[in-house]
Amino acid sequence: MNQTMRQTLEHAAAFIEDLNSCAVGSTCSLDELRARFRTELPTTGQDAGQVIDELVAATRGGLLGSASGRFFAWVIGGALPSALAADWLTSTWNQNAALYACSPAAAVVEEYAGKWLKELLGLPSESSFAFTSGCQMAHFVGLSAARYELLRKMGWDANEQGLFGAPPFPVLASDQRHASVDRALRYLGFGRRSLDSLATDADGKIIEQALLESLERQTAPAIVILNAADLNIGAIDCFETLIPMAHAHGAWVHVDGAFGLFARASRSKCHLLQGVEAADSWATDAHKWLNVPFDCGVAFVRNSSAHRAAFSIQASYIASDKTARDQIDWSPEWSRRGRAFSVYAALCELGRDGIEILINRSCEYASSMVEQIGEIPGAEVLFYPTLNQGLIRFPDSRPGATDSDHDRRTREIIAAINDTGEAFFSATTWRGKTAMRVSVINWRTNEEDVRRAVAACWNAVNTADSANK
Ligand SMILES: *Cc1c(COP(=O)(O)O)cnc(C)c1O
Repeated sequence: MNQTMRQTLEHAAAFIEDLNSCAVGSTCSLDELRARFRTELPTTGQDAGQVIDELVAATRGGLLGSASGRFFAWVIGGALPSALAADWLTSTWNQNAALYACSPAAAVVEEYAGKWLKELLGLPSESSFAFTSGCQMAHFVGLSAARYELLRKMGWDANEQGLFGAPPFPVLASDQRHASVDRALRYLGFGRRSLDSLATDADGKIIEQALLESLERQTAPAIVILNAADLNIGAIDCFETLIPMAHAHGAWVHVDGAFGLFARASRSKCHLLQGVEAADSWATDAHKWLNVPFDCGVAFVRNSSAHRAAFSIQASYIASDKTARDQIDWSPEWSRRGRAFSVYAALCELGRDGIEILINRSCEYASSMVEQIGEIPGAEVLFYPTLNQGLIRFPDSRPGATDSDHDRRTREIIAAINDTGEAFFSATTWRGKTAMRVSVINWRTNEEDVRRAVAACWNAVNTADSANK
């Protein structure tokens, strides 16, 4: 084996072994980090192995331990061993997964990965799919198909006539939607004015009447975007009521299921997403709950002709089962990474059973962490997880403390917890309040990680309290 590769393998193995003992957060400042790298473009080249050694040394302390089991910020998945290994091979093989002709194996593996995901998530078998860089681009794919199809029904061929002068139509989406929905819409030519934010109830679900009234106000068929778990509290819209209502008004229903769609793989959780299979397009991520390394999102579209029409470069939009599947007909990119190798590996490593166990275990740990952190004097639970996301606040106990004092104290405690290096959380704003999000999604997280994270919270609160005395 090439010496550089051997060395790199050792660096990678050491990184994984150290996850348990290294600080989870970053330990160096922006200035320190900037000064660590070569600051000028080198004029002459350098030995490859030396480049790697220097890179590893310079990044030390500047990487987050998001691959570890004690990282609970945002919604960031880990990497299963086989998925990580397949990702290394994907880089080594260096295939361009644009066309069957460019990489026959990449095209065929993608066929299986897409088919298996439809089965796992209980989506219609006739749906087409695309592997994207993430859920935002999966929104882009689903919404491109929606835009093409709704315009086609209004007698407008978007591929031929473009968008300028096209008949306008609205987008209705939850006021708890992820900002990636707004960005995907912006790329597709929808401005803020075409977007109607639908009011949600205390559980974060779209109020039925709000959707109905908005649908009735519209003069053109709409795109309706529903949540299969929002990022703050894992709120899932009532698909059984909302999807038929939207369809009765001629709407296209798109679902943001970045992580929540995977709850379909758990027999004890899937009732939460009852009826989601009736939507028209779905966006999810493999780099979240499936624990495939970054980056990999997945889009599914029931109307495969609309999907293909929106992306294909071929004159005929009719896909044939007899010929190979060219990824370029379904994806926004031209040249692209063979993302499906890692997905295929992850699905094989876990199997249906393993995925169900992973989903259930994440939810149990999230509940148990929120309950235990909630017992710390001064902590207040804002939301107990119904899935794998919960919210905690650390109010300021001084008499007369205001909301902004509570927000500040919550941020201080989160920073103090992260400073322990034992666990890492992020802040969010929910219903106008700053909160600490507890998000459990990494396959590595185990009971010991939960214990260490809860202990870190106790320590941080005690330290902050004694500093204030
Ligand atoms: C993470 C997330 C997204 C965005 O996904 P990317 O993979 O980062 O593009 C969208 N919606 C929800 C609910 C998310 O949690």
